Formats: sequence, C-alpha cells, structure tokens
Amino acid sequence: MENLVVWTLYFFSFYAFLPAFISRTFGFRVFKKGLVKKEIALTFDDGPDAVYTPKLLELLARYDAKATFFIVGAHGEAQPELLRKIHEEGHTLGIHNYVHKTNWFMRPRSVKRQIERTCEIIREATGSRSNYYRPPWGIINVFDFAGIGHLQIVLWSSMFGDWNKRLGAERLKRKMLKKLRPGEVLLLHDCGQTPGAHHEAPANMLVALEAYLQEGSKQGYRFVAIEEMIKLTEQAKERQLSWWKKSLITLWLQYERLFHLLFHLKQVGEESPAFHYRTISYSGHPIELAEGGRLNKGDRVVELHFDNRKLSGIAAEAASPLAAGIRMLREVEAALPMLASQLAHDPEAVDAKAIYGVTMIHRGADRLGFEVFPLPSGLFARTTRIYLRLLMRVLTKKQRNAKSKERRKAIDPCMLLMPMSKIQAYQNTHAALLRASIGQEASLQSAPSAAGDSVPVKGSTSAV
Ligand SMILES: [Zn+2]
Repeated sequence: MENLVVWTLYFFSFYAFLPAFISRTFGFRVFKKGLVKKEIALTFDDGPDAVYTPKLLELLARYDAKATFFIVGAHGEAQPELLRKIHEEGHTLGIHNYVHKTNWFMRPRSVKRQIERTCEIIREATGSRSNYYRPPWGIINVFDFAGIGHLQIVLWSSMFGDWNKRLGAERLKRKMLKKLRPGEVLLLHDCGQTPGAHHEAPANMLVALEAYLQEGSKQGYRFVAIEEMIKLTEQAKERQLSWWKKSLITLWLQYERLFHLLFHLKQVGEESPAFHYRTISYSGHPIELAEGGRLNKGDRVVELHFDNRKLSGIAAEAASPLAAGIRMLREVEAALPMLASQLAHDPEAVDAKAIYGVTMIHRGADRLGFEVFPLPSGLFARTTRIYLRLLMRVLTKKQRNAKSKERRKAIDPCMLLMPMSKIQAYQNTHAALLRASIGQEASLQSAPSAAGDSVPVKGSTSAV
C-alpha cells in the first residue's frame, strides 16, 4: 500500500505535474503570449465542426482575420475538405491529438501516435505539415518535450470557459473584451463535442467573437496566425537583447576607465592604444621560463591589458570570435615594438623580469615570443574564465553553427609571459620603423607583419 502511494506521488510529480509546472512557469518550448504592438492571435480548439467551423471561417474572412485551428485528428479525418478550406483561406492548422484525451493518462508512445496520425491527416488534406501542437487541456507530460520532434507547443494567455453554454454570449463578450490587448493568445472552441462542453456553446462564441473582432478592428488590432505572432515575438526579443548588449558594453567601458585611473595604467602609444600596462609584483606560483630563468613570487612584472574599446570595436566587426582573435593578434603584434620602446624609457619597468597578461585565445602567441602557461587552478582562474567567456559572448555575434565544445576550448584563458630580453628585441623593430617613416608616412598599423596573415591566433590580453 505504502509503495502504491509513493509510486502515485512519483508519477504525478515527475510525469505530470513537474513538466506542466516547468513549462507553464518558464515557457520552456512553449509559446503562450506574444511580445508585439498591435497583434492578437485567435486560436480555436477541438474542431473542425461541420456546423460551426464554416460559420467561423465566414466571420474571420469578413474581418480579414487569420487564426490558428488546433484540430482533433478524428474530426479532421471525417471532413478533409473543411481542413483544406481552413488552409486555403490562410489560417494555420495545429494538432490537438487524434482523440481528445489528456496526455497524463497515455503512455509516451500513445501520445506520439496520436500526434503523428493527426499530423498525417493534416498533411494529406492540405499538402503541408503542421508545426504546432496544443495538448488537450494544455496538459503536458515530461515526454512531450522529448517526443514531439519539430513541433512547437502552443498554449494560451487567455481562456474564457466558452465551452459552457450557460455562460451566455453577453458575459463571454465582456470577458473577452477585457483581453483586447496586444500579444494575447486567445483560446476559443469551434466545436462543442468534447466531454464537458456543450454542443451548442460555439454559437455563443461566434456572437461574442464578432463583437470582439469589431472592437479590435476599430482600435487598429491585427488578428494573426500563430506563426506570425511567434516570428514577431522573436524579433522583438532579439531587439531587446541587442539593447541590453549595448548598455552592458557602455557600462563596461566606463568601468575600464575607472580601473585605469585607480590602478594608474599607462597607455601604449598615443592614439587608439592597443595596450595599457602597469608594473606589479608577481604573486603566482614560481614559473620556469624557457629562456632566461625563473619567475618567483615578488618579482616585478609588467602586466598588460588589452584596450577594451579597441577589443569591442574589433569584436563588433568580426564574424566570429576566432576572426576577432586574429585581428587582435595583429594589433598586439603591431603594438609590441612601441611597448618595447616605451618600457625601455620607463623607470618603473627597469627591474621588471617579464611582461605578463591573461588571454583567452593563445594559439600562435608563441610566434610573437610569448610563452603560454595554463592559468593555475583556483578562484582566480575560475572567475577569469567566467568573465572572459561572458565578455566574448556579449561582444561577438551569435555563432549558431560553431561546435560549442570546440569554441569553449579555443577561448580557455591562459597566462602569457615574455622575458624582458625578448621584448627588448622588439625595440629594434621600433627603431627601424621610425627610421623608415622618415620621408614616408608609415604608421604602425601598416607595419610589416612577421607572423603573416594566416596565423590562427587570439592575443587578447584582457583586463582581468
Ligand atoms: Zn481541447
């Protein structure tokens, strides 16, 4: 007996209630309401019905309204010509199971069969496949998310009990008019054959709907099928996101300025700098450098920061994080000679043993003379990783096709180190460039690139 109670509880929480709760609360794979200015989506369940559906189509046509019909497969199978008419008049057909049964009491395989059979009925009648599914009574079980394939689940933002004839057309109308608002997904019924419904209830619905369409049209609303509502909503969300991104970047650039002021960062070069730097004491684990000894705790190092204004400019133009990385490497390469010459004249940097930076993409940085070390694990590495990944996500364009694992590996933060002896060699390049610029206007931007154009490298020494 106890077992039965436990299993019943388990069944209801896992199989039925939990997914319903999750989908209703978070809108996961479920569309319920639009984010639009002047559109409303009318949806009709349980039909088609030989009496009421043709009347409904005539009413919708008069108001140039497009709607979505979630049909019961068995009803559609009996009247394919009606399905064709719905489709030909520009409305959308969705699936509402083959018989009007709740998914809670069906095995996942049965739900799948119900959906597939109805999908096939629609395809045979209209020639096109349905992309939308509304489970009876809006009840979803955990397997619906896994088993419905390409289908988008559509629920609703408002329903009115229009299946109850006693509600009356007048009261239904008043309830509906309260929901004359953009983005609403109205649930109505063009068929009263479902258990619990009254078979004549759709007659009231038609009266109330006419008033609703009349008032809505007067106020400039457009009645659209569900795919248009979903599309407009996605566009609006995208716009919101890009607004957020812009604000975030502005905020972050201001934070950087503050950071530079507080920690006395020096900029490399005069206009549009690629780097900033400061001299600090090294505080990590001792590190053996390939050429030129060992870096111990307390040794002076020059900490590099890539200029974030430049970084965001590059990232906004680049097609991918990798492309942004290659551009940044070139900037680094072009700025290194200038950094070398500046360090040679900076009294604070006299006793520095190495230059040091934390970067996301490090492949190929060795060709510039950097040694690459993994970031020692710990809180710093973890927060740096989160910060840099977030940064790349905000800055660069969405990459739908990139394999996320590969991409993540490519932007794993590392520590770059270059012994002072090496950076001093860059100073000669700088002197040579200065000589070359006499007589002709050679800028550092067009400096000859030793590493070539095809280096797949990211050298974003970032502020951390
Ligand atoms: Zn229904």
